[in-house]
Amino acid sequence: MENQKLTIEQIRLLPKTELHVHLDCSLSFDFLSTYIPDLTESAFKERFVGPAKFKTLAQFLTYATPQINYLQTEQQLRHSIKDLLKQLKHDSIFYAEIRFAPHLHQQKGLTPFEVVQILTDEAQKWNKKWDIQTNFLLCTLRHFSKKESFEVLELVEHFMGKGVVGFDIAGDEAGFDLQEHQDAFQQAFKKDIPITAHAGEALGAQSVLETLDVLKAQRIGHGVRSIENPDLIKKLINNRIHLEVCPSTNVQIDVFPTYSSHPINTFFSEGVSVGINTDTRTITGIDLSLEYYKMQQVFGWGIEEFKCVNESTINHIFIDEPQKKALTSKLNQGLITY
Ligand SMILES: [Zn+2]
Repeated sequence: MENQKLTIEQIRLLPKTELHVHLDCSLSFDFLSTYIPDLTESAFKERFVGPAKFKTLAQFLTYATPQINYLQTEQQLRHSIKDLLKQLKHDSIFYAEIRFAPHLHQQKGLTPFEVVQILTDEAQKWNKKWDIQTNFLLCTLRHFSKKESFEVLELVEHFMGKGVVGFDIAGDEAGFDLQEHQDAFQQAFKKDIPITAHAGEALGAQSVLETLDVLKAQRIGHGVRSIENPDLIKKLINNRIHLEVCPSTNVQIDVFPTYSSHPINTFFSEGVSVGINTDTRTITGIDLSLEYYKMQQVFGWGIEEFKCVNESTINHIFIDEPQKKALTSKLNQGLITY
């Protein structure tokens, strides 16, 4: 039977979860115009929103820097998390894991420790006020040194359970290998620290295999080029690896030429655990409701599919089982009216 077509307003009200969104790539026009008073909507689009297509991931990443420059003071950091949580509320997201790299916010003298402290403190305040649950993932970056990766791991350990739930590696996958980072991730694995890692976006299936093997990740950020290797797809299913898929960003970086050629629907129908995410809301010019709307338009997804990917996502959230159960009932309750 064909799915009932939902309007964008109905989709906006669907309860959702999101596990892959970068704070420093998701600042709104409202936020940025506070610090750039003469910023017009068109200048915002030109400076902060990327073109429909990028040639490489490295080129795409250059669009993150202009936003990071406005995340350097305590006031800006507090404002930024409020800004993003407001966007998540507008998507009816009830649980999210937000990521950032603490080392990228030191231009005005804050230490990475202070950065995490400020953001976890401010997020907690708005979580309570707006009845939303969010946690942070702390990122090291591919071009960082071994020492910096260990520093991020230390921060994850310190703030674990106090607003931080996991460790990630982001950055230029094609430009830098995992060698500098494998020791920090192996230590994290030994200490039972949840791990996700960006892979299989700029490079192919081999990079996902290597990331699973070397970093012991339980979730993969993107992982979409796993589609190139049927054995890897089996491995993802058998080892219950979750892919945090961000379809619009993948199309923008030209991993796939069009939305309809994106393999998300194939992963889903073959039984790989997948979630739908925005990744970089500003650079991609997307929010999660629009992303769901596209999934409906292009792949005919409806309530059942959205429910299913949110259940799979909840199963792979980096929190304990009782909290996951509570989130599943929140999801089901929110869906009753549909
Ligand atoms: Zn990402």
